[in-house]
Amino acid sequence: MKLIIRLEDLKAIIKTAKRSAVEICGFLFGRRKRDGFIVEEVRFVPNRLNSPMAFEMEPVEMVKAIDEAEERALEVVGIFHSHVGCPPVPSGRDLKGMRLWPVVWLIVDDNGNYGAYVLEDGKVRRIPVGFNVESTLDG
Ligand SMILES: [Zn+2]
Repeated sequence: MKLIIRLEDLKAIIKTAKRSAVEICGFLFGRRKRDGFIVEEVRFVPNRLNSPMAFEMEPVEMVKAIDEAEERALEVVGIFHSHVGCPPVPSGRDLKGMRLWPVVWLIVDDNGNYGAYVLEDGKVRRIPVGFNVESTLDG
């Protein structure tokens, strides 16, 4: 299982994270295929906690984002957020979130590092991130 995302989409998330003093967050919408999760769209949602230590998606924006994605037949394949000043690995709080939202969790930090994680039998497993071929060609 892997996460497949356009390189420019990942770069956009990292760029936004680097510019932000608080954690940024949002959804990865796309399609679930046999060998991985294909991200078609990245959607930023405001962090209502406005905190460098934690995030919670603003509920109205969150519902709106999901509705709009469903209209285009896209599903939530992942949730992304950033860590400020610490590595992109799931915190205890993230683990609780992962149980509530059992999708891919993509975490970036403000140094450009990133990791994608899923829960497997209650345990966190890091999965590879691949880049969409089209986007790496126009590069
Ligand atoms: Zn986190």
